[in-house]
Amino acid sequence: MKRNAVYRILVAILAIALFAVGGCSFLEPTTAPQKDGLTIKVLDVGQGDAILVRSKEKTILIDTSDIDEREQLVRQLQKENVKKIDALMITHPHADHIGGFAEVAKRCDIGQIYDSGKTTTTAVYKDYLKTIKKKNIPFHVVKQGETLDFGDGVRFEVLGPPKLKGDDDNLNNASIVGRLVYGDFAMMFTGDTESAAEKAIVKKYGKQMKSDVLKASHHGSKTSSSNVFLKAVTPKTVLISVGAGNDYGHPHQNIMKRYQKQGYDIYRTDRDGTITVHSDGRSYTVKKETAK
Ligand SMILES: [Zn+2]
Repeated sequence: MKRNAVYRILVAILAIALFAVGGCSFLEPTTAPQKDGLTIKVLDVGQGDAILVRSKEKTILIDTSDIDEREQLVRQLQKENVKKIDALMITHPHADHIGGFAEVAKRCDIGQIYDSGKTTTTAVYKDYLKTIKKKNIPFHVVKQGETLDFGDGVRFEVLGPPKLKGDDDNLNNASIVGRLVYGDFAMMFTGDTESAAEKAIVKKYGKQMKSDVLKASHHGSKTSSSNVFLKAVTPKTVLISVGAGNDYGHPHQNIMKRYQKQGYDIYRTDRDGTITVHSDGRSYTVKKETAK
């Protein structure tokens, strides 16, 4: 047999082996996702959101950052030894939340999509739907009041999007908002929801919103983090996913002042890199990746 033919056979065997193993086709070997407790990583993926949530049983990715950040997202998932994404939540269909989807779907098995149900006409959104259909990924539109099972007693209480009259064009207000709960620990997820939706959510769930940690809505924009919402959540720690030197001026200085006035511990991905929150169901710790 010629050398070339042997080489080709070896490549074919390797390809079949990789296919059989399944999961994300990253080059590095993978390990078990999570030993104990709950880990949340707000990944350092520039201007956009991508948050990894891992329980002992499941790996969930919330948003996929922007198109330009897709290689960075893939590197981060590789670094975290993500083998399979049990559920991918897309909070709303803006490019800085669905932009990396195509790349993730190409490399990873995705068990389930949780979607806000909000549609749009952009190419990146159409491509997202097409990929889901092609790969036959189960697609679930979440509803206010339902609870999602993230495994090992971790649950995600869906608080939004609320129904808002006359606000159909605002994709941010269609963001999935939810409270991730594990024992006594809770973290509020917000997507890019703005003050109108924040207020509607507080009206409905005000007394059930208290959370230790808050993912700052809309990258710390002044459109969000209304006083009434912050009062309902009363976090101790705020995590901001934001790109260094972004064009939007995120986070807004007035919002930073508002957070500081409340005495929150503030972490931001542009300065701290990936932010890791770990909870054993009683207390929690927060770690920065680096001081940039
Ligand atoms: Zn955004």
